[in-house]
Amino acid sequence: MNRKYRSIEVAHLASGVALHLPLHEIEGAGPGPTVGISAAIHGDEGVGVEVVRRLAADPELEGLTGRLLLLPVANPLAYAANDRSTPLDAQNLNRIFPGDPEGWLTEQFAQIISDEFLTRIDVHFDLHSGGFYPIVDYAYWLNAPDLSRAFGRRFLYAPPEPYHGTSTEISGKAARAVVLELGGGLVPQEPYAAAALAGVKNALRVLGALPGQPTPPQRQTLLHHIETVRPHEGGLLLPAVAQLGCEVAKGEVLGRVVSPYSFDLLEEIRAPFDGVMILTHPTLHQIEPGDYGYMVGELGSAEDVS
Ligand SMILES: [Zn+2]
Repeated sequence: MNRKYRSIEVAHLASGVALHLPLHEIEGAGPGPTVGISAAIHGDEGVGVEVVRRLAADPELEGLTGRLLLLPVANPLAYAANDRSTPLDAQNLNRIFPGDPEGWLTEQFAQIISDEFLTRIDVHFDLHSGGFYPIVDYAYWLNAPDLSRAFGRRFLYAPPEPYHGTSTEISGKAARAVVLELGGGLVPQEPYAAAALAGVKNALRVLGALPGQPTPPQRQTLLHHIETVRPHEGGLLLPAVAQLGCEVAKGEVLGRVVSPYSFDLLEEIRAPFDGVMILTHPTLHQIEPGDYGYMVGELGSAEDVS
């Protein structure tokens, strides 16, 4: 096994500090696919960073065939700020791929990620989570159903069309891609880091990149419609449905926004249809109008893929 770490210099900031793109390459013993694993493309989704770090140290990599290309922190400035977007130019890195060498700093950075990572891999796992406040649990079903299923999540989601400008829109042209959405929120992240690492390793077994038999997926439900319900009022969010994976009825109150000043009830956020909780808020916190409120998967249009 051969390991290489490259810290690719992108630019100097006005502070004089150099901005780098961190890339680990781990070469296995025999031929096989190049699997790229990225995390923290949204800077407030840090649990994936730990998943990549643990994978790099995992003793099972002794049996690796092919190559791993690891991008543990895809947006270092956003990660440092614990922010979804880059504070310096307010750009969401995962909406501007393939990037622009003459654009905003985040666009310049995206172009280097495209050249150094997204176009050099045969398989792409992009690790996301719910962010600083929300918690989430599902895997995208894009162009590699067997790999999406291998992550072992109870709910999978096939979007009607890819989100424009995402990393997997670029990598997915030539590579098999999975986006994992797991963890986040103001709760201990250990169970989610462990589950995500187990999912990554299981998918690597499906690919034959790691030795051993993959664990067959549990009963899984493929969702075709997930609705993001955003608050129209800001204030203090009091969760009503704080658990993931539970069923809710159309019109059921998912959370309430109250004024932390007058204590008035400003809004009741309700389920748009009979469905299942995909993203929620495990605890109270302040929230802005238009922020991620809840994600509900529609059960009426879902199908069983067990
Ligand atoms: Zn994300």
